Amino acid sequence: MALPSTYADRNCSLARALEVVGERWTLLIVRDAFYGVRKFGDFATQLGIPRAVLTNRLKALVHEGVLERTAAGDYQLTDKGVELWPILRALMAWGDEFYSPRGDKRTLRHDLDGGLLDHEGRCAQCGAVIPVADTRIEPGPGFEAGNANPDPVSKLLNVPRRLLEPLDR
Ligand SMILES: [Zn+2]
Repeated sequence: MALPSTYADRNCSLARALEVVGERWTLLIVRDAFYGVRKFGDFATQLGIPRAVLTNRLKALVHEGVLERTAAGDYQLTDKGVELWPILRALMAWGDEFYSPRGDKRTLRHDLDGGLLDHEGRCAQCGAVIPVADTRIEPGPGFEAGNANPDPVSKLLNVPRRLLEPLDR
């Protein structure tokens, strides 16, 4: 799981953080958890990730206290996990700026008043920094629907929804 112990700088918290979230797929699993994906099968469907890899990544995220199991056996973000949101938001913004010529793939809004959120999560409408759970994510101008018949999970994720709200199946 962890990067080799020879990893450059033992005094670097970025290196330590990357041991937790720097592996391939891990941040995408965390992203989907913000989108409300909670079931193993839904992560597998949405990500197209080999099940063995998904099992490993989920186990590691639970071990690190980023995700927790619910009584129903689902996976949900812990408070520690939710604190990863500014990082995901920043990486999305960076990806939009340099790799999405037609504009943001997804737009973030304050769910209450519809105000656009800036890169710090501040609402253009009311001026407040909006908590993750009050953030609405919706397809932006650069969004490409792709497949005309998306799988049921993608279908739910391709319409406006509040972060962290469990997918309704
Ligand atoms: Zn607002």
